[in-house]
Amino acid sequence: MLCYQCGTCTASCPSGRLTAFRTRQIIRRAQLGLKDEILPSDDLWLCTTCYSCVERCPREVEITDILFILRNMAVKEGHMADQHKRIGENMMKYGSTVPVKEDVMKLRVKMGLPENPPTTVGNKKGMEDFRKVMEECGFDKLMKGGKK
Ligand code: SF4
Ligand code: SF4
Repeated sequence: MLCYQCGTCTASCPSGRLTAFRTRQIIRRAQLGLKDEILPSDDLWLCTTCYSCVERCPREVEITDILFILRNMAVKEGHMADQHKRIGENMMKYGSTVPVKEDVMKLRVKMGLPENPPTTVGNKKGMEDFRKVMEECGFDKLMKGGKK
């Protein structure tokens, strides 16, 4: 409710320069409680979470965190951008948002490293534990578009 609609966030937004996404509009809709307009909207997923708007907002509105909360609400209602869903599915499948490609694996081996980095990706037990946590908190169901 601190927002007085100055538009600095929209002017600072790198995503808004390339798309129809207008940060100020989402904040206004949130102030008005227009949940049904915000949650199914594709715009909600166009924020890159760069925090430029937060750094510049004269009213110190935690804009990016508000967008995170709105995204969480949207996902619980079954709305999620396909690209974000794919990233979540990669997390479940590979333990990483970006799977290690075959040519990278070969390069690693050539350099005397294991095929996979020593993260969840290359740690069987770590991966099992990670999946367990994801299932326990309902992340896997959210990725399938279901409700938690
Ligand atoms: S910069 Fe801050 S005060 Fe200005 S419109 Fe955006 S959220 Fe509102
Ligand atoms: S955090 Fe999101 S809304 Fe804010 S400037 Fe960056 S891309 Fe735009």
